[in-house]
Amino acid sequence: MDRRKFLQSSLALSVSAAAAGVTGCRQQPLDLEPATAFTPGEPMPWINWAANQSCTPQWRSAPASVDELMDALQTATGCVRAVGAGHSFSPVVPTDDTLISMDLLSGLLRHDSEKQQATLLAGTRMHAMGPMLHSIGQALPNMPDMDYPSLGGAITNSVHATGTAFGSMSSYVTELKLATLSGDLIECSAEKNPEIFKAAQTSIGSLGIVSEITLQNQAAFNLTEYSSVENLNEVLENIEERCNDHRHFEIFPIPYSDTCLTIATDIAKPGDKPLGEDDPQAVNTVRRVFDATSWIPVVGEGLYDRILTTALAAEVETIRTGPSYQVFPHVRVVRFREMEYTVPAEAGPACVREILKTIKDKHLPLCFPLEYRYVKGDDVWLSMFEGQAGCSISIHQFGDLDYKTPFAEIEPIFWKYGGRPHWGKIHTLDASRLAKLYPRHWQDFHEVRRELDPQGKFMNRHLHTIFGS
Ligand SMILES: Cc1cc2nc3c(=O)[nH]c(=O)nc-3n(C[C@H](O)[C@H](O)[C@H](O)COP(=O)(O)OP(=O)(O)OC[C@H]3O[C@@H](n4cnc5c(N)ncnc54)[C@H](O)[C@@H]3O)c2cc1C
Repeated sequence: MDRRKFLQSSLALSVSAAAAGVTGCRQQPLDLEPATAFTPGEPMPWINWAANQSCTPQWRSAPASVDELMDALQTATGCVRAVGAGHSFSPVVPTDDTLISMDLLSGLLRHDSEKQQATLLAGTRMHAMGPMLHSIGQALPNMPDMDYPSLGGAITNSVHATGTAFGSMSSYVTELKLATLSGDLIECSAEKNPEIFKAAQTSIGSLGIVSEITLQNQAAFNLTEYSSVENLNEVLENIEERCNDHRHFEIFPIPYSDTCLTIATDIAKPGDKPLGEDDPQAVNTVRRVFDATSWIPVVGEGLYDRILTTALAAEVETIRTGPSYQVFPHVRVVRFREMEYTVPAEAGPACVREILKTIKDKHLPLCFPLEYRYVKGDDVWLSMFEGQAGCSISIHQFGDLDYKTPFAEIEPIFWKYGGRPHWGKIHTLDASRLAKLYPRHWQDFHEVRRELDPQGKFMNRHLHTIFGS
């Protein structure tokens, strides 16, 4: 059965369950954030992709050149925040004072073919970057599983993909320029202003606005990606081998089942051919099957597992092949909210097993697949991978369901395994707890931050919580 047929059969199943008067017993009442009403003539509200963060900036600016950016910073009032693509789940962007959009600061500035490096404006979206780099024979060594973020937003939060040999986006930065409130445009790299560089590689937008970024790329390459449905326990038992066998490997474990989707990606071989389609609605299929079966006491979960394994495992093998910038990203059309922590790499299997057991034991209303990835360690002061290789584990909730209650049940499991939260995703840690997770450079970072922004004008309410006042 292919994915399309599976979708149709599960839809039929949920329709028949609905006809029998059955609704998914684990559905929660809607818990949407308040809508942001817009009154003509009044400042326009800003809202993020996940629709769980909003604000009403009194002043917005969209500089189209670095000079305009410097001018905008000189005239900015109150709390100043930059915004890229608004794809963060945590309240890193909101300000009711000055919001500076990076959208118009986009494009390739220059490149060095010998070093395989390229310099881009920080507002460049990752989906625009792929073709730009391809045209000069370069490609990012790795990319996250979607390409909506801006380059500046991605490095600011240490955005990552998967692959034990590959670091986060911040680790590919060799040089950047930082526009500060004092009117300086600071050039920094490992050689020039090295302390500012280490802090600015991942700063959660607290030092200034990054105007341009030089990336260490590699020669353009093609990839082939294989998606399969497998037994989670078997995959986790051989996880090291599975990761070593592929350039990139990741897992999407499905709660209440022993089933997971695996994605293995390698350099394309001559003759690799695509098979099947990438289905951005697949998570809705999981939800429909869950809703159609989970109401049955005791057997419900077994039935769910059987439907998933038989329907999905029979034949759902998608193969995508092409230039790397087309294969790495996937289309994400189903709105969700996400919490992600990175635990030390060796703790990954135990941590994900405990999360899945807790979801099941506590009957938590989470059926959205988890995401499980490995990332190489780096030396970026506030990167989640600083000083250690990490295993990043995400839990998700559909955009129309309550996420706060189930996430609160899972978050302590991440703490138990020494997890560091993704800066752009939901977490509840404050400065006192975060400082302990970054023992080597927390103070160094804040010295640089206080030097560059002594009045704390880049600090919004969330940054005051995570950094302390
Ligand atoms: C569907 C979806 C899938 C995702 N998948 C992944 C994934 O695979 N891996 C992963 O790690 N994350 C993932 N994320 C999280 C997302 O990639 C990060 O939160 C990222 O930082 C968002 O980038 P952005 O351009 O939208 O930044 P925004 O959310 O707009 O801003 C993020 C932060 O960067 C600051 N900022 C933006 N531009 C600049 C600049 N030029 N200078 C200084 N500060 C700046 C902002 O002030 C803010 O603090 C995903 C999010 C979504 C919604």
